[in-house]
Amino acid sequence: MIAREYVSLPGGGLRQVYSIERTDGSVALGDYRAWLASRAARCACGAVCRGSGRTCGAPECISRLERC
Ligand SMILES: [Zn+2]
Repeated sequence: MIAREYVSLPGGGLRQVYSIERTDGSVALGDYRAWLASRAARCACGAVCRGSGRTCGAPECISRLERC
């Protein structure tokens, strides 16, 4: 399980990050969306799949799926 946190950006925005405590006790921060993307299912073209689908949603990728 990871802890989700927000980091304030210089421009006043917020960035969602996650923190993981390493075995040596130090805390690592990572970009939460990048973490999600790294775990997400991938389309044949390499893009992250949308929703629960098996493609990124591009028409050519959907037609490729139907041909299989
Ligand atoms: Zn695709």
